[in-house]
Amino acid sequence: MSGAGFILAINFVVAGLLAAAFLTVALYDAKLTAARWFALGYGFGMAYFGIEFMIYMLGSNGPAVVFSFAVVLAGMALFNVGLAQKYSVQNPRTTMAVTFILSVVVCTLIQDQPRTSFWRMLAYQAPYFAMQVIGVWIVGFSRARGRLDTVLLVLLSASALQFLSKPFLMVVFGGTGATPQDYLSTNYALFSQTLSTIFAIGVALLMLVIMVRDILAAVTSKSETDTLSGLYNRGGFERLATEALEHAARRGTPFALVIADLDHFKAVNDTFGHASGDRVIQAFAGLLKGAAGAPPIAARLGGEEFAIVLPGANLIAARLFAEGARAAFSARPIEGLPADKRFTASFGVAELLASESLSGLMRRADEALYAAKEEGRDCVRVSRPAAVVAGLLAGRAK
Ligand code: GH3
Ligand code: MG
Ligand code: MG
Repeated sequence: MSGAGFILAINFVVAGLLAAAFLTVALYDAKLTAARWFALGYGFGMAYFGIEFMIYMLGSNGPAVVFSFAVVLAGMALFNVGLAQKYSVQNPRTTMAVTFILSVVVCTLIQDQPRTSFWRMLAYQAPYFAMQVIGVWIVGFSRARGRLDTVLLVLLSASALQFLSKPFLMVVFGGTGATPQDYLSTNYALFSQTLSTIFAIGVALLMLVIMVRDILAAVTSKSETDTLSGLYNRGGFERLATEALEHAARRGTPFALVIADLDHFKAVNDTFGHASGDRVIQAFAGLLKGAAGAPPIAARLGGEEFAIVLPGANLIAARLFAEGARAAFSARPIEGLPADKRFTASFGVAELLASESLSGLMRRADEALYAAKEEGRDCVRVSRPAAVVAGLLAGRAK
């Protein structure tokens, strides 16, 4: 077996292993439909190496060459369908179908051209380039793109370009052989097959890493979400609020926290039942979700106690926010409960002091909330730390 024949055999196995890896991901979670398309795409890659090997062993030309070409192109199109699903971009199926049909027609027409022709080679590789560019286009159009997705974009672009480079490589390496059977014994085949394989493996590994990243992110998000309210739970809140707090502290921008607790909630449960109580919790959560920034860092800390951080807000702005939320909540009827019944909440507000921790800030907001409860509920109280008060007094005395 020649070097390229050996590479074909290895590629056959590698494509199969990658298809199996994607299939494993797809089986792990039926919702990850993109993984099924990736598996199918690499499955077609495997089939291609099988066909190429048959051509090499049995000897065949024309139709078999066109068929192997079409199998690779179809595999790339299937991979692109997966990309479109993964990145929530509309599947460019018409563009891909037209590209596919035109390419197969052109590939058929060029079969009687001399195999060493630069233009024949260009016509053979251009469809691969085009299909890969469609993949680049899909990833480029996705809105939520992280660092790894950008790396994928670069890798797919480089992969597209390597297809275009092949006619030139063919000239440099002295042709693709006189017949399809000779192809595998050329230096060009050795180089070309290796190059394509490196890209195919690189793209697959990166895609697997991206999928694992997303699976981990989904698991983390699930473990940090409160199921009843859809807000963060205490754990999620503490992680994200700490991140936001450190960010604000580094930039020296104001940062405030509001803690709220529903008033006489035990009586709500006792009067209307636990399920109605849950509805009140959900209504209050909905108000917080819609109220501050997108996406707001708002949480149900437990029971009927809530917290929301307001990056960029000072004490006055945060107090206004809390007043707005208080007034809105106390004015709205809640579905499933008597139309004339109103519910209220009390609020405690605190603004971050220099070198204060999240727990310190939460403790002060909690004290303000306690004061609001003490002073009759359905109101907002702010934490005025002694240091701030003293500073204000000193300023006034001057
Ligand atoms: P205050 O105005 O002082 O806050 O009085 P309160 O009755 O709201 O406070 P208390 O802490 O005495 O009672 C809180 C109640 O919240 C008791 C508990 O049954 C109820 N509760 C806690 N979690 C849930 C929940 O998930 N669903 C419902 N429906 N009720 C809950
Ligand atoms: Mg309460
Ligand atoms: Mg409470």
